[in-house]
Amino acid sequence: MRSLVICTLSAIICAMPCNAIADSLNVYSFRKAELIRPLITQFEQQTGIAVNLVSGKADHLIARLANDGENSLADVLLTVDVARLEDAKRRGLLAPIHSALLDNNIPHSLRDSNNFWFGLSIRARTLFIAKARVAENSLTRYQDLVLPRWRGKICARKGSHYYNRSMVAAFIHNEGYAATKEWVNAISLNLAKRPNGGDRDQLRSLAAGYCDVAIANSYYYGMLATSAKAIDRRVYQQVAILWPDQQDRGTHLNISGAAVTKASRNKKQAIKFIEFLTTKAAQKIYSEINFEYPIRKDVLPSAMLRTWGTFKGDEQAIAYLSGYHKQAKQLIEHSNW
Ligand code: FE
Repeated sequence: MRSLVICTLSAIICAMPCNAIADSLNVYSFRKAELIRPLITQFEQQTGIAVNLVSGKADHLIARLANDGENSLADVLLTVDVARLEDAKRRGLLAPIHSALLDNNIPHSLRDSNNFWFGLSIRARTLFIAKARVAENSLTRYQDLVLPRWRGKICARKGSHYYNRSMVAAFIHNEGYAATKEWVNAISLNLAKRPNGGDRDQLRSLAAGYCDVAIANSYYYGMLATSAKAIDRRVYQQVAILWPDQQDRGTHLNISGAAVTKASRNKKQAIKFIEFLTTKAAQKIYSEINFEYPIRKDVLPSAMLRTWGTFKGDEQAIAYLSGYHKQAKQLIEHSNW
């Protein structure tokens, strides 16, 4: 049956067969285009659902969702860091969805217990050393970063960045506020230089001899390995990845994830899209193109990631992190990190 469809863009009512419009999806994405494009192309071919991709900075996309309220055209939010997903949920921007497939494909600890958001890939915030100067067993825990031997030897991006905030939030949860305050202050004293640049820059500085240890997300290591620049590929050879806290709770993990927006008028298609991102084929792409770990236990990490060794990740339900973000932000602001 041909139905009347409100053509939202022009805000007029048109009488026409609007199948193409109904079977389309607006995705707000804070993900690299190289990663998400191949996934979208496959999804479109498989389902006939056209995807309009709106790329932007994570916080900007969420602000836009909030500003547009129920007039938002977004159906799906793709973003990184569980604290952002939790934030969007708290602000009433997301809709809970029910999908047996998602429940089955995504471990409990990596999705919202009320079905507002779903982890799609795993990233570890971990430690790196300069192979030429540091033995692999010299750091086994995040706590080791405060040892006097690392005075002036640590490279890390600004403490206020979300990635560091989430890592500090995990520390507060596990060690308490007072111990975390000491830890953050000691790290800031051990920094080799004023934090600037991103995680890749810390690894470059590590290889260049500015520091002996760096904190970075695991997938940046893969980006350096496959960089078009020979100098970055050399960085990859000169630094080694470590997996801290293996005897303890495991290396700190975060996720990239997805959610259906509250305003979505295409929830069915939106769910289909998120389900697609957890298929084995899509999960392989996350690992091979973006060097993240698959969310599914039955999909192997890419061949390169396997060369980084196996590790135990922190398996606590990840949603707790956002609850400590405010405290983490304060502690970091009061340090020199
Ligand atoms: Fe990143």
